[in-house]
Amino acid sequence: VTQVLSDCLFCRIVAGEIAADVVAETETVVAFRDVNPQAPLHVLVVPREHVANAASLADTVPATVADLVLVAREVAEKGGHESYRLVFNTGADAGQTVFHAHLHVLAGRPMTWPPG
Ligand code: AMP
Repeated sequence: VTQVLSDCLFCRIVAGEIAADVVAETETVVAFRDVNPQAPLHVLVVPREHVANAASLADTVPATVADLVLVAREVAEKGGHESYRLVFNTGADAGQTVFHAHLHVLAGRPMTWPPG
């Protein structure tokens, strides 16, 4: 059962209440461009269902974690990117600011390590 939280930004994007540049959609996930892109391609892939982070999604609907990764690959490949970086920030100290699970897909420039 998909829960739409009226105060959750990504629930509102999934529900179409807030506009986003959607690049891919499946029954379980929605992918849209990040408003503050950190690379030439920067897309967020989010589950339609509200869960706080990736591990909680794995606890509750593990197949949807795979859907996030598969849609991320599709978005990168469609953009012509063979190499891409996938990031799940989990917790404020790791840089998570939106507490609805999302997979960052970054591509189109050389990526450095360690990340900032
Ligand atoms: P995180 O910091 O990992 O929680 O990632 C949240 C991401 O959401 C950031 O990269 C923001 O730039 C992005 N973001 C915030 N508001 C919006 C929005 N309305 N549409 C698309 N991306 C957004």
